[in-house]
Amino acid sequence: RNLTKAFPIRGGLLKRQVGSVRAVDGVNFHIEPSETFGLVGESGCGKSTTGRCVLRLIEPSSGELKFEGKDVIALSGENLRALRRDIQIIFQDPYASLNPRMTIGAIIGEALTIHGLAASRQQYEARIVHLLETVGLQADHMTRYPHEFSGGQRQRIGIARAIAVEPKLIICDEPVSALDVSIQAQVINLLEDLQQKFGIAYLFVAHDLSVVEHISRRVAVMYLGRIVETAPSRQLYSAPKHPYTEALLSAVPIPDPSVKRKRVRLKGEVPSPINPPSGCHFHTRCPIAKDVCSKEVPPLKASDEGHLVACHFR
Ligand code: SF4
Ligand code: MG
Repeated sequence: RNLTKAFPIRGGLLKRQVGSVRAVDGVNFHIEPSETFGLVGESGCGKSTTGRCVLRLIEPSSGELKFEGKDVIALSGENLRALRRDIQIIFQDPYASLNPRMTIGAIIGEALTIHGLAASRQQYEARIVHLLETVGLQADHMTRYPHEFSGGQRQRIGIARAIAVEPKLIICDEPVSALDVSIQAQVINLLEDLQQKFGIAYLFVAHDLSVVEHISRRVAVMYLGRIVETAPSRQLYSAPKHPYTEALLSAVPIPDPSVKRKRVRLKGEVPSPINPPSGCHFHTRCPIAKDVCSKEVPPLKASDEGHLVACHFR
C-alpha cells in the first residue's frame, strides 16, 4: 500500500543532497497465491525498484508491505532470513547473476545450506540433481561452471537456485529480456510449468506487454513511478483504457489480422524521473491531454470489476 521509494540526488563538490527522485511513487497492488502479476513499463519507470522493495533488497522510503499478513518492513534478523526463503528473485542478466568461480552445484546448493535444507551430503547432492532435472538440465552439469552454458541455460540455473528453497513468490525481473526470442518462450513455459507444479506466485516485471500477456493473470502498467492502469490480462489487452497502455499495445504486433487496435503514436521520450511533469506525469506525451492534466494528478479509480485506471477522461 502506497509503496514509495525516493533516492537522494547528490551534487556539487561536497556531494550534498540537492533533491530526490521518486522512483516508486505511491504504488498499490496485491498478488494472490499461485498467480502471476505482470508489472510493465519502459525502463526507468520504477518496476524493478518495486520488485526489489518487495524483497527488501532496496528499503522502501514509506508505505506498507505485507506478506501473508506479516509486516515485511518491520522484519529483521531471523525473520528477514525466513522471508528471503519465501520470496526469491530471478534477475534479468543470467550472465551477471551467477558467480563465475562457483560450480553450478555450489550455486544451487548455497541456498540449501543457508536455509538448512539438506541433512546430509547425499541428500544435498540428490536435491541438486533433482533441481537440475526439474529445470531441464542434467545431473552432470553440477560440476561445471557458468561460462560453459548458454544464456537460456544460465537462466534455468538461476531458476533452479530460486526454487531450491521452495519459495511462495518469485520476483521475475525481466528474466527473458536478455535472451533470444526463440529461447524466451522456453523459459516462460518452464516458469509456467513450475507454477503449476509448486503453486508459486510470480511478480513478473517486463518492459514489453507482449512478454507478460500469456503468463499473467493480472497486469499493471507503470509510468514514471506510478501505476496508471491495472486489469485482468484479457481485459487490459482487449480493452485498454489508459492512453499510455493504448500506446504500448499499439507497438505489439497482433497475429490475428481480424483484430483491430488503435494506433497511438507518442510524442517524445520518457521525461526524466528527476523532474517529472506536474499533474498527470503522462501529459507531455498524451494525445488527448487537456488543461486539467498538467494541474491535477488523476487518481487510480475503478472503471470495471478489477479494472483500475488513472486518467481524468477514461
Ligand atoms: Fe492523458 Fe490527461 Fe488522461 Fe493523463 S489524465 S492520461 S494526460 S488525458
Ligand atoms: Mg529494470
